[in-house]
Amino acid sequence: MSTEAHQITVSGMRIDVVRKPIKNLHLGVYPPNGRVRVAAPVAVSDDAVRLAVVSRIGWIKRQQAKFEAQARQSARDYVSGESHYFLGRRYRLNVVEGTGAGRVSIKNSTTLDLHVREGSDLAARERVFQAWYRQELKAFTAPLIEQWAKTMQLPVPHWGIKRMKTKWGTCKIEEQRVWLNLELIKKPPQCIAYIVVHELVHFFERHHNDHFVALMDRFMPQWRLHRDELNSAALGHEEWEY
Ligand SMILES: [Zn+2]
Repeated sequence: MSTEAHQITVSGMRIDVVRKPIKNLHLGVYPPNGRVRVAAPVAVSDDAVRLAVVSRIGWIKRQQAKFEAQARQSARDYVSGESHYFLGRRYRLNVVEGTGAGRVSIKNSTTLDLHVREGSDLAARERVFQAWYRQELKAFTAPLIEQWAKTMQLPVPHWGIKRMKTKWGTCKIEEQRVWLNLELIKKPPQCIAYIVVHELVHFFERHHNDHFVALMDRFMPQWRLHRDELNSAALGHEEWEY
């Protein structure tokens, strides 16, 4: 059996397979093209992986269809009338051209004003908007991390925001550092809190095992609801006991 990352074909679909010292088989469908990747325990054969994939084929196809729909919907031109999400709410973008520095302001419960210099191109408008997203996520998350670290009796970790393709957050235990995906700013507050708690729980438990789940249940009994809400729109993952 190959322990190198390699590909197998299941029902005409190419699947990336990697073997890791893990307990559960993990199947992920990744944007932007719906690539399928399986992380399998070392002792699990390719045939067993193939069977596991076959049994999830309906789920995989549904994830891939979602990505396609999302890709169509997420092309952004930063022009008036576009929909943009902020903390779980949908807003209509209103581009205001002027002479001042670029900025975004929340006009009311349905409209975001994007102030840009007259004649700004797409790249400039995008830069202003994404900088605002980043600043808002930072402002929203800072007290959240502090408060949850206190509740969980942990030191407040270093943390930062970056764009990630396949994860909402990561925890570098050795560096005492948490990274959050910038995309989170589009999600409802409780979903952002769920990711914060999830990453902080990793300081107690590295793996997604029973101990991890017990800690999540203790600190955030509703976490499954928030997780499902978060994953209803993007970044599909499934994990199951093997
Ligand atoms: Zn995790």
